[in-house]
Amino acid sequence: EIINIGSFLNDIIDRFEMIALDKKIRFNRKIANSPVYVKVAPDKLTQVLDNVISNAMKYSPEGGDIKVQMLQRGEHLQISISDQGMGIPRESQAKIFDRFYRVDKARARSVGGTGLGLAIARELILAHNGDIWVESEYGKGTTIHITLPFSNDQEGEHEL
Ligand code: ATP
Ligand code: MG
Repeated sequence: EIINIGSFLNDIIDRFEMIALDKKIRFNRKIANSPVYVKVAPDKLTQVLDNVISNAMKYSPEGGDIKVQMLQRGEHLQISISDQGMGIPRESQAKIFDRFYRVDKARARSVGGTGLGLAIARELILAHNGDIWVESEYGKGTTIHITLPFSNDQEGEHEL
């Protein structure tokens, strides 16, 4: 299915904004107004973004800011989700996409989760010919970057 990624992202953030009120977390959107199309399974992309955004919320301090940014990187669309949370130590960064891996078991237990979210996210994004990786500074915050190929055909217009 071909989707307009900007409005897709806005709908997802709208849903999280309600939940975020509790923790006084604000979303900062850097999302294009003009339509940008990507070919994805929408339910799969929702699953990926739900996990990445809920991680950002779980590990953010009260009053923290979560930035959701979309930008063009050559043939790919890049979506970057940044938080101002505790960050991930360098030696753990490669492991967070492994099944059941959680940084610091004690800390992780208090926030809940199984450690599967990012492993599933990685599988789904690779299946879309995209990529997902982390950039983080321990104590300062985390950014998850996702790339997806642009849709280069006009199929979407026939599905209206
Ligand atoms: P699940 O997603 O299955 O409910 P989970 O959130 O613990 O559980 P993942 O989403 O796979 O599992 O994340 C793996 C681990 O990576 C987390 O337990 C956490 O330690 C670390 N992590 C992920 N995102 C962040 C983030 N934004 N800030 C800090 N640590 C993070
Ligand atoms: Mg998770």
